[in-house]
Amino acid sequence: MNTILIGSQWGDEGKGKIIDVLTDKADIVVRYQGGSNAGHTVIAEGKKRVLRLVPSGILHPAKTCVIGNGVVMNPLDLIGEIEELRASGVEPKGRLFISTRTQMVMLYHRALDKAEEAARPVGKKIGTTGRGIGPAYAAKVGRSGLRCGDMLQDDFLDRVREQVAETNERLRELRAKDEDLAIPGCTVKGGQLDAEEIVATYAAAKERLAPYVIDTVAYLHEAKAAGKSILLEGAQGTMLDIDFGTYPFVTSSNPTAGGACIGSGLSPRDIGCVVGVVKAYTTRVGEGPFPTELYNAVDKQDPDGKTMAERGHEFGAVTKRPRRTGWYDAVVARYSQQVNGVDYWALTKLDVLDTLPKIKICVAYELDGTRIETMPSTARELARVKPVYEEMDGWLCETSDVTRIEDLPPKARAYVDRLVELSGAKLGILSIGPARESTLRLAL
Ligand code: GDP
Repeated sequence: MNTILIGSQWGDEGKGKIIDVLTDKADIVVRYQGGSNAGHTVIAEGKKRVLRLVPSGILHPAKTCVIGNGVVMNPLDLIGEIEELRASGVEPKGRLFISTRTQMVMLYHRALDKAEEAARPVGKKIGTTGRGIGPAYAAKVGRSGLRCGDMLQDDFLDRVREQVAETNERLRELRAKDEDLAIPGCTVKGGQLDAEEIVATYAAAKERLAPYVIDTVAYLHEAKAAGKSILLEGAQGTMLDIDFGTYPFVTSSNPTAGGACIGSGLSPRDIGCVVGVVKAYTTRVGEGPFPTELYNAVDKQDPDGKTMAERGHEFGAVTKRPRRTGWYDAVVARYSQQVNGVDYWALTKLDVLDTLPKIKICVAYELDGTRIETMPSTARELARVKPVYEEMDGWLCETSDVTRIEDLPPKARAYVDRLVELSGAKLGILSIGPARESTLRLAL
């Protein structure tokens, strides 16, 4: 059976660990959107690894991994990741394939990303990670992007040279300053990029990556016909989806389940199950509305939110930015269930709440005096809603060692049951600690 795994909130739900667990039952793991702005943390055999582009299935020797066409792939990051994997004894060659249709994030996309964000006035900044993901997706839709298959063509380096020249023109228009463009491996002078240096960088990258580039659509359909099972892993989360998230405070791709088909070439009919990863509380990185927010680095300092941040180690895996934290939002979860067709929840990080005496759940919103149970379609409305809370008792004891759901403290069980009841799908996995062992597999 082929399974899609998505994040149900604003990302960082702990997808890396759940993917790692579900990989047991898959032959092939596919990443279908996003780029190296997203990071998955996996702890296996006591070692912590952060993977940005390569699916974490690579850590299982018998699995094959695919970087699908919906991803925007930074060749330099990928080379770095391949090297890191090799250094830790994992050989990706022969088990990692990149689609000929995958768009590439180039150094000049990073420069544009940074220059455009620097040019936005305070209050209008998007909170981009500055990794070039937005400009790479813009180039894709604008039909000027370079795809991995282009890397194998004779005119590839000429096209890179041309694109650097076009970017330099745009940087002049933006009046980009050298300090705004600081990017490792990229010389900048007078707000301009050095074209020949960039061309040389990609000439080397092309040699390194060419052996990994194949037609992954054909590959996946052959694998499917041979009875292999495929796990499609989403990065980020539903509320960051370019269409269904809190636009414009969103990412440039579709992390939702529909994006898995678009980003891999499998059809909706090929999908047997959708798993939604949802954290027992909520976090968000960067700007944008967050109705149940309790704690952030700027103006909210609620002690319960601080406990979530500290016990949950809520810092971005790649960006290291502190995350905003708040109570579980069942409106978000229900919306995510609908948009993604979630069959099963993988509920994570319940243990982070072990020390809280009282725990709230947002069951609905109040928008301009009216109670609503569905997600407003604009970020402006979402910024105005007030959460309607239900309060439950905390369990005040450790849950990480529990090995059967029946052994959860009754108050923890009641909290889990209530979240599931409010959120529209069955519970498939309960995660109560970062390690693979701290996972209760109920249905998956
Ligand atoms: P992802 O992008 O959705 O994979 O999420 P991240 O990797 O950024 O964040 C997940 C973090 O939470 C990682 O450090 C995991 O090791 C950790 N984690 C995952 N599940 C659990 C859990 O059930 N409990 C605790 N305490 N930590 C967890």
